[in-house]
Amino acid sequence: MQAASYNPDTLDLPSGSLIDGQLVAGEGEQYEVRRPSDGKLARVERGASAAQVDRAVQIAAKAFATSAWATGNPRARGQVLRRWADLVEKNADNLARLESIVSPRMYVGVRTRDALGVAELIRYNAELADKINGEMLASASNVWSMVLREPYGVVGGISPWNAPLFLAALKLAPALAAGNAVVLKPSEGTPYSLILLAQLAIEAGVPAGLIAVVPGLGHETGSALVRHPQISYVSFTGSTASGARVMADAALHGLKPVSLELGGKSPQLVLDDAVDLDKVADYVANSIIGNSGQICFCGTRLVVDERIADDLVDRVSRRFKQVTPGPTWADGSTLAPIFSEGQAQRIEGILARAVQGGASIQQGGTRSDTPYGGVYFQPTLVRGAQPDNAVVREEVFGPVLAVQTFRGLEEGLALADHPTYGLAGAVHTADINKALRAARAIQAGTVWVNHYGPSGDLNGSNAPYKQSGMGQDGGVGALTKYLKTKNVRVLVQ
Ligand code: NAD
Repeated sequence: MQAASYNPDTLDLPSGSLIDGQLVAGEGEQYEVRRPSDGKLARVERGASAAQVDRAVQIAAKAFATSAWATGNPRARGQVLRRWADLVEKNADNLARLESIVSPRMYVGVRTRDALGVAELIRYNAELADKINGEMLASASNVWSMVLREPYGVVGGISPWNAPLFLAALKLAPALAAGNAVVLKPSEGTPYSLILLAQLAIEAGVPAGLIAVVPGLGHETGSALVRHPQISYVSFTGSTASGARVMADAALHGLKPVSLELGGKSPQLVLDDAVDLDKVADYVANSIIGNSGQICFCGTRLVVDERIADDLVDRVSRRFKQVTPGPTWADGSTLAPIFSEGQAQRIEGILARAVQGGASIQQGGTRSDTPYGGVYFQPTLVRGAQPDNAVVREEVFGPVLAVQTFRGLEEGLALADHPTYGLAGAVHTADINKALRAARAIQAGTVWVNHYGPSGDLNGSNAPYKQSGMGQDGGVGALTKYLKTKNVRVLVQ
């Protein structure tokens, strides 16, 4: 057994909902929160009931209307947010414990990267708080035609379990910096780090009612939040199926705007002139090993020129063999647990259908044999899958790489295109002309050239294509999406 960074059995978990700065016990449906690393029960929780969601939203609406958050000097808002970022940094260790105990995120990774990344993300948005200006439109000299930018009011945020802190912060930081209140419904399985994150915001000076966290099940708590008449914008991250339900709910209950960050099946297109196959293999393997493939933008389809396919696949395969499955809190673990038994069964189901459809599993394909109790899935290589095979079409959300080969750029581009997903993609080539052609051709919100994955560049954005979603996360556009525009025309008498 590896040494542990902390003892998961003695960790205090902040349970319930955070409403008006107070932790209150849930009154909604009961469910179990489990520890993916060892399969043990973390707590039995009750989610926020519809009445509790109503209370949180009403308090947030009042805080929005009565505090100076939206109406005061935006620079003061930025200062509060900067204090929040400092507190996040100071509390990185505790945030990492509360996150890694119930999610697949590695303790060390959250403490040294995710939490610090969240602090930087908050600072980035704090810096924008007083720099998003309105506009004066060209008009007759006796008309002053201005465009004002105004916050929506109370934003309903809904987030998933796979990288709880960072994905929720992608909503909280810009929505608050734009002057809104936020009621956040985290995944029922991973609420604890987000309760602390919101408590730190309040400690930094965000008015207590202006930020609430209401954990609970999607069909109860999530749905009550989306349908609430005082929620004026819904910001959702999760699966495409849930996103569609949320969009329908938002349309039928108040016709409110939604932004959706959903699933992906992103291609890594590798041409035969790729500069350094070892580096490419690192990008491909890391994208599958990291968080055990439970990341929306994983490059899960390796679309590679047939002349270098065997060589590249060998290099990826060697990297897949070097992983150390283990609990998120254990030193030296490099392969995270699968979030739940249900998720593991989903991976197995897709692999079974992939084989039935004519593909072959070249490596992995089964659970790792570990003494820990949680489910660990071997990094898996699937070859010979046709474009309509389940492993090429469906988001697996596990450490599974589907290899597709081609001859010639046109065939590669055609294979790289996915009929429904368009979250991200990459092209690896030494030829700038081919790189630029591919970057245009790949129908996705982010295209990386000669690398893969977000690099900590906070100006970077993702605005998904196709059924991967709509609306921008990251960058300046993530803040402006939480602002309405109003044209004020003054006629000078
Ligand atoms: P999920 O869709 O099951 O749940 C996401 C959130 O939505 C949870 O908080 C859940 O309780 C809530 N929810 C579910 N049904 C709801 C409903 N009817 N009304 C309101 N809320 C509802 O997704 P998940 O399993 O938690 O996360 C994995 C999925 O999220 C994957 O598909 C992944 O690709 C996607 N994801 C996308 C991004 C992105 O930025 N594009 C990032 C991370 C994860």
